[in-house]
Amino acid sequence: MDLVFDRQHIWHPYTSTLSPLPCYPVERAAGVSIFLESGEELIDGMSSWWAAIHGYNHPHLNSAAHQQIDDVSHVMFGGLTHAPAINLCKKLIDMTCDSLQHVFLADSGSVAVEVSLKMALQYWHARGEKRSKFLTLRDGYHGDTFAAMSVTDPDNSMHSLYKGFLPEHIFANSPNTPFDQPWDPRGLDDFASKIKANYQDIAAVILEPIVQGAGGMRIYHPEFLKGVRRLCDQYNVLLILDEIATGFGRTGKLFAYQHANVEPDILCLGKAITGGYMTLSATLTSTHVANTVCGGEAGCFMHGPTFMGNPLACAVATASMEILERNEWQAQTKAIETQFSQLLPRLEQHPLVETVRWLGAIGVVEAKCAVNMAVIQDHFVKQGVWIRPFGKLIYMMPPFISQPHHIEKLVAAIESALNTPACFQ
Ligand code: PMP
Repeated sequence: MDLVFDRQHIWHPYTSTLSPLPCYPVERAAGVSIFLESGEELIDGMSSWWAAIHGYNHPHLNSAAHQQIDDVSHVMFGGLTHAPAINLCKKLIDMTCDSLQHVFLADSGSVAVEVSLKMALQYWHARGEKRSKFLTLRDGYHGDTFAAMSVTDPDNSMHSLYKGFLPEHIFANSPNTPFDQPWDPRGLDDFASKIKANYQDIAAVILEPIVQGAGGMRIYHPEFLKGVRRLCDQYNVLLILDEIATGFGRTGKLFAYQHANVEPDILCLGKAITGGYMTLSATLTSTHVANTVCGGEAGCFMHGPTFMGNPLACAVATASMEILERNEWQAQTKAIETQFSQLLPRLEQHPLVETVRWLGAIGVVEAKCAVNMAVIQDHFVKQGVWIRPFGKLIYMMPPFISQPHHIEKLVAAIESALNTPACFQ
């Protein structure tokens, strides 16, 4: 592989063209293993950023892709429709809460978030109310496009860099009671006072239910989410739940909002929707929201991406839903959670570790200082695992099919990195 070309000409996520971090050349992947060109086998701890929940090169997903390619890979969705989109949307409506009845398919998680925000704006416009603010949480993450960035934590998404271009929204303190600790209702005070003071301007609340992912891997108490739903009802504000990372079983429930028994007005899905095969997202709404949006001045929802409803992605996503329907994910995520609960507390004793936490198939080790990315990455590869930390966070969200010895290997590699001072700054 021409790694010199890669280094000189290709941007990778969040990297510099001046001093790019090393990239490891992948030849193929299967099950929980990523095989490098050099022949090394890495046990995957990332599911390719939450997406590859069933593992790589899955026969059922492969066969769905092959069959669909032979029929049609893509046709425009304006004026045309097809079975892959219909089959997928039927499944999404069946799987999610009863109130969600309308599906908007788009290309990526960030676009699903853009779509949800635009829907909320059009909803209030159609009702003749001027509401242009969103209320969200500190430490949240919703994507890298402009509107998504504007509701992402201001420090993480570097709002200062884009000052003047980014709309300014309202940020409440992030939840401070962890998932498994006794609920402290004061954690909701800041959110409650912000919604009370601003509700006439707020089109919607947007947040990640139960797990704040890329903004800090914080796992919070379901009562916070219940309180948010209650306050949104009280002040008549729409609630958008961004389940792009948490959806499809990752937290031990099919959707994280089920931990709190609440229903959103708008739901964003992405990442694992295709089992990590290709990019696709879905934004679901209630009939009330959909019909209000479309009953307004525009007479429709003003969005229609070129690759909307891509048949290939929809066929693979339908196959991914079929795997979930076998219901093995529940026992699999439970087993991974149990193993994290057995293995991670020991790491908490390590002098470099601030804290550890886990939920479903998510395990987090928060260090006291930031990692040295190039060194720790190389260390993990030498240990035969693929874990990609950020800042002080070393975290795992392995494919659901991971076996106990895979999880042991991931945790052992983290322990070995903790014992290697050069891995940290
Ligand atoms: N929302 C959440 C909660 C996410 O974790 C992400 C991606 N990390 C996004 C939105 C954006 O998704 P994408 O990268 O597919 O645009």
